[in-house]
Amino acid sequence: MAIDFKKHIASIQDFPNEGIVFRDITPILQDPKLYKAATHELAEYAKSRGADVIVGPEARGFIVGCPVATELGLGFVPARKPHKLPRKTVKAAYDLEYGSNSLEMHVDAIKPGQKVVVCDDLLATAGTLRATKQLIEDLGAKLVGAAFYIELPDLKGRDLLPDVDIYSLVQFH
Ligand code: IMP
Repeated sequence: MAIDFKKHIASIQDFPNEGIVFRDITPILQDPKLYKAATHELAEYAKSRGADVIVGPEARGFIVGCPVATELGLGFVPARKPHKLPRKTVKAAYDLEYGSNSLEMHVDAIKPGQKVVVCDDLLATAGTLRATKQLIEDLGAKLVGAAFYIELPDLKGRDLLPDVDIYSLVQFH
């Protein structure tokens, strides 16, 4: 029987700021069967897209993406916040509600022509995904899909990336 992942995601009102409902995936992570099942769903998706490598944005993208890469026998590449990676990087900025942030990836992390699937916990406005896509493309690779535990469709993140195939386990309206 299909697992109802939605009922295992905690919703916290007014966190981290008033008016925000934070969707918390930790109940899935702390249950080994659920974590494995969620990983498997994303791995099947990444396999169907022909992924050669999995990329995860800091920090929850590491938690979501690493086990997907391991299940598929693929490598994992972190997209990290500034000044965390020790060697030469490419960099992409993205807008936040107030101000901006950026992500970096080692220049030798992905080879030109490789097919990449991005994994993360949640798709909201797609700013994170757009910056990650830019890093992947700057290295000459191709983003063939993006997989999330959670999507917030009302924020229309998909509309900003009409050419990217997006998969999510659950949606919150
Ligand atoms: P976006 O860039 O607007 O699509 O936001 C997605 C990023 O913000 C992801 O990396 C998430 O980890 C994080 N994020 C935004 N809202 C939430 C939330 O409610 N729960 C968990 N992570 C969130």
